[in-house]
Amino acid sequence: MTTTIPKPPLPSGSRLMRLAEAMATPHSLDRYLELVNPMMSARELRAEVTEVWRQTDDTVTLTLRPTRQWRGFTAGQFVNVGVVVDGIRHTRCYSPACSQYRRDGRFELTVKAQEGGVVSPYLFGAAEPGLVVHLSQAAGEFVLPQTRPDRILLISGGSGITPVLSMLRTLCDENYDGTVTFLHYAYTDRDVAYAAELRQLAAAHANVDVVLAYTDQDNGGDLHGFFGTEHLDTVAPWFRDAQTYLCGPPGLMRAVRTEFREHDIESRLHTEEFAPVVAIADDDATGTVRFVSSGVQAENSGASLLEQAEEAGLSPTYGCRMGICFSCTAVKTSGCTRNLRTGETDSDPDQPIQLCISAPVGDVEIQV
Ligand SMILES: Cc1cc2nc3c(=O)[nH]c(=O)nc-3n(C[C@H](O)[C@H](O)[C@H](O)COP(=O)(O)OP(=O)(O)OC[C@H]3O[C@@H](n4cnc5c(N)ncnc54)[C@H](O)[C@@H]3O)c2cc1C
Repeated sequence: MTTTIPKPPLPSGSRLMRLAEAMATPHSLDRYLELVNPMMSARELRAEVTEVWRQTDDTVTLTLRPTRQWRGFTAGQFVNVGVVVDGIRHTRCYSPACSQYRRDGRFELTVKAQEGGVVSPYLFGAAEPGLVVHLSQAAGEFVLPQTRPDRILLISGGSGITPVLSMLRTLCDENYDGTVTFLHYAYTDRDVAYAAELRQLAAAHANVDVVLAYTDQDNGGDLHGFFGTEHLDTVAPWFRDAQTYLCGPPGLMRAVRTEFREHDIESRLHTEEFAPVVAIADDDATGTVRFVSSGVQAENSGASLLEQAEEAGLSPTYGCRMGICFSCTAVKTSGCTRNLRTGETDSDPDQPIQLCISAPVGDVEIQV
């Protein structure tokens, strides 16, 4: 005999929510709520900018108050931030710079204005308290292990300071008692965001060493010139036994990776890239790419589908341009694509793929 277990009644809140959503169809309930107040939302996560601080000539630090759906973050992770610029919503990844234990439920982003960019110059120039942005939950694997290592080396350059500063602030809040060295590269002392706080953290925690290295200034600071073995030997001679977390411009990332490879300790190096992966165009590419939703088609150039769509005059949504944030995912209805990071190919129809790291192999149809 089978026993049928009656379903528990829906909590009245969810029933009301479903009713309200049914009445709002074909639009989402959030479309109506945002007309009343952009921070009122039934499902979507958003955040209001509450403080704005332009601490260097090209960075803006934003304090954000997220809506109730926010589940917090772990130091080192990133969020997708969506803003409307000239009537179009653009999404980019940013890593919270504050401690994961910040008590007021808010978090902080520091954005460097990039020449020729869309979102970062907009935030640098126009962000003011009251601006409401779209937000994703935090994601990413660039985090400290649960069991904190005895020795931690944090290396950053330029805007790459954000995730590793979050780690440092988090470790200080935890009263971490291992050894931590924070090595940060900037052009000059005027380009260092958080300089005063970094010095304060080092003064307040005997186990924390902050080292500022200037590449375009040969006085002041603790080190000068580009990263090299001698820098590591000076500031963290124990680096071979430590866990190292690195985020910065491509040149710094390359130099540190080479150093760790030469010492055969790459497994001790953990990295986060801000810069997109540049796909190398395949000169032997053949076939036609059909962007079916737009009715546009182009000869396959071998570049990523995102670049080919942009070259064809389309503007698909994207975030990281490196396969991390999934903002550019679209359904490939037919054809074969190659993952530019792993080299793997996929010939199955009706597959969601990431445009930024997928290149067509022959004829491809994609819902863009
Ligand atoms: C995980 C992660 C975390 C990040 N965290 C931070 C952070 O904390 N702080 C921070 O400042 N940044 C961070 N970034 C970088 C950030 O996501 C953006 O890439 C950055 O702000 C630039 O965005 P943008 O819209 O201004 O520039 P975009 O419009 O994306 O352009 C970026 C650059 O590419 C060039 N470009 C754009 N389109 C083309 C094209 N078709 N052909 C050739 N060149 C082109 C532009 O000229 C510009 O120089 C992070 C990135 C990732 C992946």
